[in-house]
Amino acid sequence: RKKIGILTSGGDASGMNACVRAVVLYGISKGCDVYAVYEGYQGLVDGGDYIRKMDWRSVTGYLSIGGTSIGTARCMAFKTHEGRLQAAENLVKHGIDSLIVCGGDGSLTGADVFRSEWTGLLDELITAGRITVDEAKTFRSMTIVGIVGSIDNDMSGTDITIGAVTSLHRICEAVDSVDTTALSHSRAFVIEVMGRHCGWLALMAGIATGADFIFIPEQPPSDEDWETSMCKVARRHRELGKRKTIIIVAEGALDKNLKPIKVDRIKDILSDRLGLDTRVTILGHTQRGGSPCAFDRILGTVQSVAAVDAVLSSSPDKPFPMIGMNNNKVTTQPLMDAVKLTHEVAEAIESRNFQRALELRDSQFLD
Ligand code: ATP
Repeated sequence: RKKIGILTSGGDASGMNACVRAVVLYGISKGCDVYAVYEGYQGLVDGGDYIRKMDWRSVTGYLSIGGTSIGTARCMAFKTHEGRLQAAENLVKHGIDSLIVCGGDGSLTGADVFRSEWTGLLDELITAGRITVDEAKTFRSMTIVGIVGSIDNDMSGTDITIGAVTSLHRICEAVDSVDTTALSHSRAFVIEVMGRHCGWLALMAGIATGADFIFIPEQPPSDEDWETSMCKVARRHRELGKRKTIIIVAEGALDKNLKPIKVDRIKDILSDRLGLDTRVTILGHTQRGGSPCAFDRILGTVQSVAAVDAVLSSSPDKPFPMIGMNNNKVTTQPLMDAVKLTHEVAEAIESRNFQRALELRDSQFLD
């Protein structure tokens, strides 16, 4: 009988609850015991009451609740060897032989580190007398499966991450609201959106709301003088009769020299050069929250079913999988490959090699 642990980690994302619900319900229906690890990796390190067996009713109502009801955390301890050793001991003590992690690229990097160290951690626990050889036997074949939950949509190996589309809906609603006041007063608004080093949210929000100009990290303005380029576009749109100007800025947006593009700087430029009555709106945490859209509920559900299936069909000679969504199909691919590719894309962007970043993103390795 498989004993599956499910945890959510990193930034919360709407649809994580759909994921937990489906792991619990589908896992139980397949004859597994399912445990929720509360507060992400912190719960794994702390053990005890943070690891709770779930039953059918534990996840009642989960589908429509935003965020993650089993909690999430940024856990420094799990980044240390001692923390991961403690986490391994807690898994063994609870008899959990499979772990499904729903989180962003950081969380799945953590899962990958844990996976690569697993056998060594067991040996260390035995040597230290913290677990017995007999206890360790069952756990030689610990399975770890990753599901990508993040509003940023910044993980390689999947077209879309759980929570990103809900977040996009929130941003569009907010920009629509700003639109009405911008139109009424003929104002300009500079709107900062989340996404860390990924411009997906900003780009999609810009397209979906008809923004005048969009700044994203992956494609910094090609000229030194982005201020003039932006002003030219905004002025032309005004000359064509537009009563509002909307500039969307990804929080990680950079200029040609890799300096952050700040919303206040954009506001000053629009005010000073074009004489526009300009306001800044930083959407902040409203982007994360609220009821998940249908897409994220479905994404969380179908990917979690695939994750449980991956647990049930796992074998020591197969690499641990990450569940993704590619070309509208649920996919599985080696977790370590997806993590590696994500880091390579990030490095390419950091070193301004955008062509390479795009090529890497296109080089999906699907099974
Ligand atoms: P989001 O995309 O929403 O920010 P994330 O999963 O990328 O989510 P992080 O804060 O980067 O969020 O990572 C979440 C947790 O994963 C960390 O707090 C830490 O516990 C674990 N983690 C991240 N990187 C590593 C690593 N290299 N080794 C071990 N654990 C890690």
